[in-house]
Amino acid sequence: MTQMLIRGRLLSFKRAPLSLTDSESYAYESDGALLIESGKIAAVGDYATVKAKAADGIEEIDHRPHLILPGFIDTHMHFPQMQVIASYAANLLEWLNTYTFPEECRFVEGDHAARIATHFYDELIRHGTTTAVAYCSVHKTSADAYFAEALKRGMCMVGGKVMMDRNAPQGLLDTPEMGYDETRAVIADWHGKGRNHVAITPRFAITSTPGQMKAAQALAEEFPDLHIQTHLSENHEEIRYTCELYPEAKDYTDIYARYGLLGKKTLLGHAIHLSEREADVLSEAGAVAVHCPTSNLFLGSGLFPMKSLMRREKPVRVAVATDIGGGSSYSMLRTLDEAYKIQQLLGERLNPLESFYLMTRGNAEALSLADRIGTLEPGTDADLVVLDAAPTPAMKLRMETVKTLPEELFLLQTMGDDRAVVETYVAGQTMKARIAG
Ligand SMILES: [Zn+2]
Repeated sequence: MTQMLIRGRLLSFKRAPLSLTDSESYAYESDGALLIESGKIAAVGDYATVKAKAADGIEEIDHRPHLILPGFIDTHMHFPQMQVIASYAANLLEWLNTYTFPEECRFVEGDHAARIATHFYDELIRHGTTTAVAYCSVHKTSADAYFAEALKRGMCMVGGKVMMDRNAPQGLLDTPEMGYDETRAVIADWHGKGRNHVAITPRFAITSTPGQMKAAQALAEEFPDLHIQTHLSENHEEIRYTCELYPEAKDYTDIYARYGLLGKKTLLGHAIHLSEREADVLSEAGAVAVHCPTSNLFLGSGLFPMKSLMRREKPVRVAVATDIGGGSSYSMLRTLDEAYKIQQLLGERLNPLESFYLMTRGNAEALSLADRIGTLEPGTDADLVVLDAAPTPAMKLRMETVKTLPEELFLLQTMGDDRAVVETYVAGQTMKARIAG
C-alpha cells in the first residue's frame, strides 16, 4: 500500500456557506495534512495528528504556505470546442452554425479526437480541475477518445456522445436509432470503467426530433442512474425557435419534462430565462441549472439569476461551469469571478466562500458525487488542487494587505487563473509535471 503525506493549509466545505462569517460551513487547518493511501484520503487534520498516524519514513510533500482544496469540478464543457474558443459571433445560433458545427465535424476522425483529448485533459490539470462533465461530438469516436484519456489519467469524468438528428450539417447528424444504439455502445464500453460516468446527451431540443427525444427517454428509463445533460433557455431567439418546433409544449422546460428527462441527475446548461412555472418544475424534479458565466457574457445570452433561483420558496439546484468553447476560460477561478460580476449587475452578492463551495463540494453535490469528490473527507478520492494566492507581482503586492481567509479566496477568484495552480493531484498522484509545456 502506497502512503503519502501532503502538508499545507487545508480548506474543505461541509455545506453551503450562509454568509461571509459562516465559519461552521467549512473546515480549515492552518498547518494541516492529508494522509493518502492508494489514491484515497485516509486521514485529514492538523499536521502533528495526521503525521502520528503515518508510517515511519513516509514520503512527505510540503506545500506550505499554499492552500490545498478539493480539485475543482467543471459541470459543463464541450470537449470538441477547444479550437472554437474566441470565435467572433453575434449570438448563440450564429456561433453554432458558423464555427462550432463545422469544427465538431472533424471529430469523426479518431486521430484528431485523440489529439484534442490529450490537450483537453492537459488544460483541466493546468487549471486545477480534476472532474469535468463534457459533451463529446455526435461521433462515437469522440466519446472513445474522451473516456480513453480519462482512464489513462485516472480521472473521474462524466461525458456523453451527443445525440442530434436535425438542424446541423450532415456530418453531425445521427438518427433516433443511431443515437440510441451508439449511446448504448458508449455505455457498454466506458461506463464504470475506471472512474468514467457516461451521460445521456441530447444536445438540445432544436437539434433533436421528437423521435430522437423518445429515444433519449428510452435510454433514461433503461439507465436511470446515468446523468442526463442538455441545454435550456440560453437566449431569446433560441427559446422562440425551440417552442416553434414543439408547439404542444407549455414552454421550453416542458419539452424535456414531456420526454421524462428531468430528474436529480439532469444537468441543464444555462437555464437563464426561466418563467416561474419552469423554475417550479425544475425545483420539483430536483434538476440542476448549470450557470456558465463567461459563456453567457461572451455570447451576450443574459444574466443568470443565480441567487434569486437559490432562495425561492421552491429553490432550484445550481452548479457552475466554464462551457468551453462558448466560455472564454478553462479556469474555475475566472469563471466564479464572472459569476460574481453577473450577480453584482443583478444587485446580488456572491461571497467568496460560496464561490469556492460551488467550485468544489457544491458542484460535487450537483453531480450526486459528493461521497467521492469535492471534499477532503476521509474515504474520498484524493483529487486536490494546491493554490498560491501570490503567483504574480500584482497578486503578491495585494496579498501583503490580506488578513483573512475569505479575503485571500476573493483575491484568488478576482485575479487568479492557472498561474495560481501550484499542483493538481488526481487520486493522490501529482499531475502537473506530466502535462505538455
Ligand atoms: Zn454548452
